[in-house]
Amino acid sequence: MKDIKSMTPDELSEFVQSIGEPQYRAAQVFKWLHGGVRDFDEMTNISIKTRSKLREHSFIVTAERAAKQVSKKDGTIKYLFAFADGNCVESVFMRYKHGNSICISTQAGCRMGCGFCASTVGGLIRNLAPSEMLEQVIGIMRDTGEKITNIVLMGTGEPLDNYDNVIRFLKLVNDKNGLNIGMRHISLSTSGLCDKIYRLAEENIPVTLSVSLHAPDDGTRNKIMPVNRKYGVSRLIEACRYYYSRTSRRISFEYALISGVNDTREAALNLSRLLSGFPCHINLIMLNKTVESDFSPPSRDWARKFQGILEQNGLNVTMRRSMGEDISAACGQLRRKAIAANERNGLTT
Ligand code: SAH
Repeated sequence: MKDIKSMTPDELSEFVQSIGEPQYRAAQVFKWLHGGVRDFDEMTNISIKTRSKLREHSFIVTAERAAKQVSKKDGTIKYLFAFADGNCVESVFMRYKHGNSICISTQAGCRMGCGFCASTVGGLIRNLAPSEMLEQVIGIMRDTGEKITNIVLMGTGEPLDNYDNVIRFLKLVNDKNGLNIGMRHISLSTSGLCDKIYRLAEENIPVTLSVSLHAPDDGTRNKIMPVNRKYGVSRLIEACRYYYSRTSRRISFEYALISGVNDTREAALNLSRLLSGFPCHINLIMLNKTVESDFSPPSRDWARKFQGILEQNGLNVTMRRSMGEDISAACGQLRRKAIAANERNGLTT
């Protein structure tokens, strides 16, 4: 049985021919799948006989909406989608002046072990298939009835730890006969898997690379991000420079301010030195407190001072507006709540 929605147009074409159908059938099926059909019977321009052949050899991955929360503050919507095996992932819909943006998950759980992140608490459960990433996009489009202009791969999971499926998803969602979302409107966020950053640079898919830096020196970064013990800050920056040299896409560095850990004046100066002259953007984020850790964000005043130091040193910095705080829209928190609730009920996810 094949996951038909994860197939590229070429694979789909091969597949329909392998079951004795003409090649043009592939384009029809692709259009239906990316238009969001949940069952072969919805493919009304395809004969019943052909539909049953398709069903015999393949299946359509779907996601059920397990929970939905709408922020009263800013209209941000948080979804919990459940797949056939019961695993759940989170996705978020955000409305901005420049269009609608969604944040999707790439893995159920995560194995990166960042000390401040709720997504990593139960470890990695499994990779998501390309079709399961698409389903999050399609599910949100269907529910909101709105156009999606931007996608960020910043939900649960490390996209570069699920490399092949993520690349395939990017190509599928970009397909002109599918959702046709431009690569330049897609951001991929990584904790910094350097070897994969080099690989991504060669793919000829100009997505924006967001790098979760969170500390300018190995001592601090090792403490909060175990991945740093493997690659280290200078190797990471080198990989980012390479990515820029190949794609001409400015890197976006994420920096979540954690009180007393990475928000000192010294850290601001080190960060300025580290990134000085590099064509990049720094996104400062107030840490979202999670129940699993004791880390907390600094005061707004101090965060503004930190930003000021970076600006004085010529860096391009913004403080990210926090969206959907009232619905625990940040970072794996809804999924953790669902897992905790299921554990209380004696279920597992
Ligand atoms: N694994 C990828 C993408 C998922 S995490 C990565 O590390 O980039 C998405 C972003 O949320 C990352 O920048 C991550 O560091 C950040 N994040 C995780 N937990 C957070 C928290 N409690 N507060 C603020 N940002 C957090």
